[in-house]
Amino acid sequence: MGSALLAASLDGLFEHRIGLGGGIAATLTDFFPVCYPHRSIYDKLRLHFSPVPGGEIGAATPVGRGLISEDVINQVRDRVDIAEVVGHHVSLTRAGQNLKGLCPFHQEKSPSFTVSPSRQIFHCFGCGAGGNVFTFLMRITGANFPETVRELGQKFGIDVPDSGPSTGPHAAQANRLEPLNRAATTWFQQSLRDGVAGATARDYLASRGIRPETIEHFEIGCAPADWDGLIKALSKQGFVQSDVAAAGLTVAREHASGAYDRFRARVMFPIKDLRKRVVGFGGRILGEGTPKYLNSPDTLLFKKGQTLYALDLAREAVARLKTVIVVEGYFDAVALHQAGLTHTVATLGTALTAEHIQVLRRFASKVVLLFDPDQAGVRAALRGLDLFVNSGLGVKVVTLPAGEDPDTYIRKEGPEAFVRLEERAPSLLDFALEHSVSTAESSTIEGRIRSVDDVLRILQKSEHPIEREERIRVVAERLGVSQQRLIERYPALVQSEGRRPATGQSTGSTQATFKGVSEERDLVYLLLHGHLTPADVQRLRPEAFSVPACRSLVEAALSRLDRDGRVGLRLLLDAVADHPDCGSLATELSMREDHFDDVRAHVAGCLETLDRKRAEAVFRDLIMQLKAAEREGRAEDARRLNAHVNELRMQKAGRPSTGMLSLVKE
Ligand SMILES: [Zn+2]
Repeated sequence: MGSALLAASLDGLFEHRIGLGGGIAATLTDFFPVCYPHRSIYDKLRLHFSPVPGGEIGAATPVGRGLISEDVINQVRDRVDIAEVVGHHVSLTRAGQNLKGLCPFHQEKSPSFTVSPSRQIFHCFGCGAGGNVFTFLMRITGANFPETVRELGQKFGIDVPDSGPSTGPHAAQANRLEPLNRAATTWFQQSLRDGVAGATARDYLASRGIRPETIEHFEIGCAPADWDGLIKALSKQGFVQSDVAAAGLTVAREHASGAYDRFRARVMFPIKDLRKRVVGFGGRILGEGTPKYLNSPDTLLFKKGQTLYALDLAREAVARLKTVIVVEGYFDAVALHQAGLTHTVATLGTALTAEHIQVLRRFASKVVLLFDPDQAGVRAALRGLDLFVNSGLGVKVVTLPAGEDPDTYIRKEGPEAFVRLEERAPSLLDFALEHSVSTAESSTIEGRIRSVDDVLRILQKSEHPIEREERIRVVAERLGVSQQRLIERYPALVQSEGRRPATGQSTGSTQATFKGVSEERDLVYLLLHGHLTPADVQRLRPEAFSVPACRSLVEAALSRLDRDGRVGLRLLLDAVADHPDCGSLATELSMREDHFDDVRAHVAGCLETLDRKRAEAVFRDLIMQLKAAEREGRAEDARRLNAHVNELRMQKAGRPSTGMLSLVKE
């Protein structure tokens, strides 16, 4: 029980006698002194819990994986040797059974990047990066899964047939949009260089302090004020109208046939994907006019909610620093890059989405949100809170002095000033707390509590008990109310803590070494090394694992049992290789060589401990429910829960249940 908060509230509980006249006083250790051998009760108790949310392994299937048949994927993987593929990017030397080298995903002086030829996986003990050959190439090249399989297949002479959305008329058009966007980019660049057409734009860029080499680096251009300059230029090059329209570069005329250029009199920013393909454009108006910023509409190549501006240029720095700065505007991103903060990306006028965060997680473990200090900027930051909670990413919010935006600030104060701001920046959670607390206008206690309701609701979802506990303390202090009042308002803050005791460790691919519950780690280790018998495997219950990574991994394993009830290790490793929650844990533990004197005894011990802890958590939850029922005067519920508690106690003492207790049997 790692939590003083929970301990305190439980102490409070046990000061009273539990029950409605049963006359039974109990303590936790009374019920569960060392172990809890009654499987039948354990099984019954499980039914009170809903499945752990968010643990669905399928959710992490790489984008587009379904487009290529498993059969072909397996063929490619069987043909390819990870050591050879990695060897093209990293200088490897033999170290026992494995190969070692300097990690390409973080900066290091002594090699902690390890490749296992026998298991066909890699793992970095420095930064936690890990996976199979596909994961490695996706991280190195930024290509997606189907692209990676296809390219590898080509290299090794395996035909990877196009299927799904990547064939047919859509795919053909998508393939035509790529050179079309490239041609448009070139034309915008030429227009900017043009003595007459580009003059206004050049002046404007100079006034914003954008240097010529930066303009080249970002391939910034301009769209002249004409109605059909781009249309004419592209058709001269042989591009057809319908494709230009499909690329989002034209707008159909309302009362006549034909179309006109979507972007006119604008500074143009080409938006590229990680493979440096131009997928869309953003345009800033020159002079007065609306909208100030205009983006390409979503097209076959361009999805606003999944794309981050400048990620193609920032990727290396982000991966090296494990940190990404997220700003809102094109000019902010360009200005920060120009100032040397090359790990900066921008959202495209949309709020951060879950897809954005998924992308960022592939490269970074820390996110710095840099939004304008105005109300809109604050709202944008707060919207991210729900998405980032439990993402495994550390998120900070940098607030600039009033009246500054990132672009003006960095030009005036320089990158050093920004780094100082970043160092002092609060976490997103603290930023949100501060915001809620300071905007509370009502002076009544109830009013102030209401003002942090939103934050508490999010805290409730957090899987980090220590973080939760600390925040409750801070909020209570700031509001001048007791922690107990906050907890009473949000009983779930404590309830869910009971379910997941003492983890307090971060999840995510960046977790370098496992810090957590040793029996969970050891069981997963033994599972990954093939030491669990079918009978052991049968006893594994994902919900009994408190460490999210262990839980996901066990879930994945149980869904891949062979006919004998054994875990298919290769299938499992492939399935979880790039799982955001458990991929790193899987490769790390697979790579380790731990020694246990008596493997069988150790397995049995770990399973026992897990069962006991689980039963304790279930019991605590029952007590919480009972307390709530008593407090709220739900006599019937309280009677039922009390009976259940009594039954557990008697089961523990080895006595049979009485007839009255049949009320609670499932
Ligand atoms: Zn590394």
